[in-house]
Amino acid sequence: MANWFINASYFVVAVVFIIGLKAMSSPVTARKGIVWAGYAMVAATVVTFFTPGLGNVGLMVLAIVAGGSVAWWSGKTVKMTDMPQMVAIYNGMGGGAAAAIAALEFARGEVHGPVVATLAVAGALIGSIAFSGSCIAYAKLQGIMKNAFRLPQQNLVNIVMAALTALLGLVIIISDVPSSAMIILFFVFALALGVILTCPIGGADMPVVISLLNAFTGLAVGLEGYVLANPALIVAGTVVGAAGTLLTQLMAKAMNRPITNVIFTPISGAAAGEGEAIEGTMKEFSALDAASVMRYASKVVIVPGYGMAVAGAQHKVWEMAQLLEEGGVEVAFAIHPVAGRMPGHMNVLLAEAGVPYDKIFDLEEINAEFPQVDVALVIGANDVVNPVARTDKTSPIYGMPILNVDMAHNVIVVKRGKGAGYSGIENALFYKDNCRMLYGSAQEAIGEVITHVKALES
Ligand code: NDP
Repeated sequence: MANWFINASYFVVAVVFIIGLKAMSSPVTARKGIVWAGYAMVAATVVTFFTPGLGNVGLMVLAIVAGGSVAWWSGKTVKMTDMPQMVAIYNGMGGGAAAAIAALEFARGEVHGPVVATLAVAGALIGSIAFSGSCIAYAKLQGIMKNAFRLPQQNLVNIVMAALTALLGLVIIISDVPSSAMIILFFVFALALGVILTCPIGGADMPVVISLLNAFTGLAVGLEGYVLANPALIVAGTVVGAAGTLLTQLMAKAMNRPITNVIFTPISGAAAGEGEAIEGTMKEFSALDAASVMRYASKVVIVPGYGMAVAGAQHKVWEMAQLLEEGGVEVAFAIHPVAGRMPGHMNVLLAEAGVPYDKIFDLEEINAEFPQVDVALVIGANDVVNPVARTDKTSPIYGMPILNVDMAHNVIVVKRGKGAGYSGIENALFYKDNCRMLYGSAQEAIGEVITHVKALES
């Protein structure tokens, strides 16, 4: 097949990628967007097989079948709450693939000229960091690696390692034919850099890191696209790099954590113990009390969090909301940008349960309303409603924007016990005078509330 046809196909594929990405910006069209982008990826892969002089076709098919089968199976079976680690490991694979392309091109002596060599080294470095960093992120989120691990003089070690890796990269760029030993050493340093950069990061910073590594992967793929002169890789990589960078910025802003802070002064287990002592006691509430307070309220705002996802309680929550609405109560849902374990986690769950989009509000849209809200019902959320982020300058999450549920007239918190949130920090909300605790797993607790609301109706 002629090269012009292959390149024209790549162009069409690139346009579909971008349209698909745009569609992903709204929950209404997101599913369509991901399907279009998937078809575009399949088309780009098929067209590549018609490249004149292509070798190793059998091996390529084998790799696609093996990788595709694992991805299909894991995509079908992954639990919603395990999505972040799956995203992390798939990102990492993309970065690793980009780095592997660079390694092979160097080993084959196919990298010619200082510009291409610089792009190849940059892609290899960024791809290797994305790969090893994502493996660490996966291990942490999967619970394989329990604690953040910080070396003495960590920032100095990072700088020295980065400088040594850059130096090795420079040697590769200026050598006509770099030796195998030099290439191997460069990759060992680059992979180690990814590990030492990601190891100290823990707690609530993890989603930002995954998004940052995703952006790295995109950039690495784009750079290797230049090395291979492959327009599909250049476009797909650049689009992923740009989208990942924007998402990273949005998440960092949502947590009020500059990216540099996330990397160089992460919230660690030690930091989680910091913060002022909290006064007051936790006051328990029964499901009947909760049902009565909400049934006779004018406005109830529901704040879902990770616990609702674990319990799979979204259907029950929507059933309860509909019952309250039938009784004349105005019900809205408030979603924090980092509620749950991945961006958009709560939106996806509520959409799955059938909650209409016009009842779902972002933090900026709803926060000013809380002082007029009769009941804020917090279901399995913790960090995203912790007022110490507003009040305690010594707290590691100080400055992170939170949903101001503590300003509502009444707050009801559904959780199983005294478990901390993801960041491990004590929540001052639970000790406030206007806050009551409804203990139980979200699904059962809301189920009981539903029974009592129904009884109040009859
Ligand atoms: P948190 O993780 O802060 O808190 C969840 C709470 O849910 C816990 O306090 C737990 O308390 C409770 N819980 C657990 N299981 C159940 C259950 N079955 N029924 C009822 N409650 C339950 O959740 P948030 O959503 O408030 O905050 C998200 C956190 O995760 C943030 O720190 C964020 O930075 C981080 N994060 C976010 C990502 C994202 O992109 N959204 C990705 C990765 C991390 P108890 O044990 O007492 O029940």
